[in-house]
Amino acid sequence: MPPVSADAIADCVLTAFQALPAKYKPRSLPDGRKEWTILAGIVLSREKPTPALKCISLATGMKCLPRSKLAEAKGNVLHDWHAEILALRGFNRWLVDECAEMARLGRKGRHEWLRWRHTRSRSDGTGGERSGRHEDELQRALDGVQHTDEHEPEHESTTGREEDTMDDALEGSQPFALHPEVKIHLYISSAPCGDASMELTMSSQEDSTPWATAPPTDILSGRGNFDLLGVVRRKPSRPDAPVTWSKSCSDKLALKQCTSLLSGVVSAGESMGLMWPGDCYLSTLVLPEDEIVPEAVERCFGHGPTGRLRTLTGKRWQGGYTFTPFTVLGTDKVFAYAKPMTPPSATGVQQTANGSNISALSTPTRTEVLINGVLQGRKQNDLKGASSVSRRRMWEVVRALQETLATTAGTIAPTITPTNTTKNPEPAGQHTSDGALKETYKSVQLSSAFAHRRAVKEDVWSTALQRWNRNEGDDEWRL
Ligand SMILES: [Zn+2]
Repeated sequence: MPPVSADAIADCVLTAFQALPAKYKPRSLPDGRKEWTILAGIVLSREKPTPALKCISLATGMKCLPRSKLAEAKGNVLHDWHAEILALRGFNRWLVDECAEMARLGRKGRHEWLRWRHTRSRSDGTGGERSGRHEDELQRALDGVQHTDEHEPEHESTTGREEDTMDDALEGSQPFALHPEVKIHLYISSAPCGDASMELTMSSQEDSTPWATAPPTDILSGRGNFDLLGVVRRKPSRPDAPVTWSKSCSDKLALKQCTSLLSGVVSAGESMGLMWPGDCYLSTLVLPEDEIVPEAVERCFGHGPTGRLRTLTGKRWQGGYTFTPFTVLGTDKVFAYAKPMTPPSATGVQQTANGSNISALSTPTRTEVLINGVLQGRKQNDLKGASSVSRRRMWEVVRALQETLATTAGTIAPTITPTNTTKNPEPAGQHTSDGALKETYKSVQLSSAFAHRRAVKEDVWSTALQRWNRNEGDDEWRL
């Protein structure tokens, strides 16, 4: 069977969106004009045992949270609901929901897309071989779909002592993975903001003189200095809008080629984690054919001579992380609510309605309508307004599932090991007098469970994606 086509991936997302009720879609105004939005969706495909293609998460959205609001967000408000970023959060939430279902069924349970991992120490004499990723993939292809007891070589360590230590750390962590033959695809109804679309941005300006709004010594704003290419940018916004420190979707997707599509709380190691990141890299990015500028795509995501990720070619990190570039393919399929291409008429009357302010999120297990990063009808400071994919809800559900898994396995409840005891003096896993966890979101992020993922990001930020200002300020809160 040939690889799944770009049109089939786009169709899968467009059809899933079409099937949603009207409240998830941009409005049609009384005068007949239609609001527009951007749609993105994650599609999983597999060829064995029978070919399957499924839209796992779709989202619409075009905005992000100003930096000034971060401190009030307390994990409840999304920072970034550009469609592709929200679709990725939905994908992570679906994975957690499915892991919970697998935990309920137990190790004998089977899932169409996910599997239990078998982890064992090399000292048992059955898993001591080392192999590269390609050999590993070959073995998996030969294995077909029977992977429940495979051993996954994960580490590049060169000393036996280090391997032993790593295997010990692996026991009980990241019990789930995708089936290795599953491919992950992302469709977006327009080119991602930032570096991959700078040429499109330039050509759409009446005056193509770059807006000199930020000196090149700092992270660039979305469209400022748009003659500078291949650089990390913040999300674009109107020059008079409050500043955001969310990175552009181009930059975030470029980084995912190193960290996988799994979020930190889903892929953390030790007793914190759920899923192994090694099989969770994007295979294909599908964009409208007329939104693809080949040199921009190659520069932004590529590792060839002009690619900004060229220094990462062949790179592997501890924890199952490898530099895994995706392929960008074009489609002629059209999203019914895309921004109309017709310019304002000669009379100056705007023919098209504004961009929609509602954001839809849909997975096979849940649907939400969001406005300003929280559930429609809720205020940003209302705890009940937190989306199921917010930082708070994700940490909550992963933690609860870990406790279930630990109980089932007859081990102790999960705890974390802070790597920096000065910054994290509180004992892990303890509660305050009012029942809240003593751990803050920040202390968990700085814990050793996140060390491998953090090392990947820091490596990439210091080489291929420099000037990546971190969007900090929403992490000093507890569950
Ligand atoms: Zn974007």
